[in-house]
Amino acid sequence: MTETAASPPGLDDVAVRLDAVKARIAAAAREAGRDPAAVTLVAVSKTHPAAAVRAALAAGHRVFGENRVQEAEAKFPALRDAFPGLVLHLIGPLQTNKARDAVALFDVIETVDRPKLAAALAREMDRLGRRPDVLVQVNTGEEPQKAGVLPADADAFIEACRGEYGLKLRGLMCIPPADEEPELHFALLAEMAKRHGLPWLSMGMSADFEAAVKMGATHVRVGTAVFGHRPAG
Ligand SMILES: *Cc1c(COP(=O)(O)O)cnc(C)c1O
Repeated sequence: MTETAASPPGLDDVAVRLDAVKARIAAAAREAGRDPAAVTLVAVSKTHPAAAVRAALAAGHRVFGENRVQEAEAKFPALRDAFPGLVLHLIGPLQTNKARDAVALFDVIETVDRPKLAAALAREMDRLGRRPDVLVQVNTGEEPQKAGVLPADADAFIEACRGEYGLKLRGLMCIPPADEEPELHFALLAEMAKRHGLPWLSMGMSADFEAAVKMGATHVRVGTAVFGHRPAG
């Protein structure tokens, strides 16, 4: 990569890290007998400045994830104007009162997890005439502090998202408990998606994306391994 005097320190690393993560994804896919092209890297840019996203865009990357609507609104509209192929995923919990902003900005909403939110999204999609893809987030570890529909309620909720709410439901997403082996959770999510004929599986982060790819992830959400450590707080 060419270095210019204007590049803030570390931004050239983004291209190098991106290449390394993509190579690891491809290797994990091949090892599992999967096509590496079937796995999309969602580069999670939360807390990192627009300049870091620009560095990834300059390196040819187009798919990003943000966990807060307001932060994404501050960073992404200008980037999207400059790079029309940009695809933005919402990967953080969504409040119902932010549904309109989320529908207006994101291409994929990964965190649909309750009827009230599904209804609000359906309403805003009708109003705005924009239909982002959605994923249902499943709280596979049944952690009380974590977002996501409980596994016991997931089947009915998935059916309602497709039927009653008419969402463009593509698949499922999970965040396994930090202190457990993620494979069991990835397997549960994969089985659930298969049962419902859902093609997308968003699972795997910096610490475990290779395991997720081996278990069928179509989208891995990787932040730290691409952009470096996030500032504390
Ligand atoms: C922050 C975040 C990630 C990325 O985490 P890293 O460990 O930095 O790769 C993935 N998914 C969700 C939902 C996140 O909030």
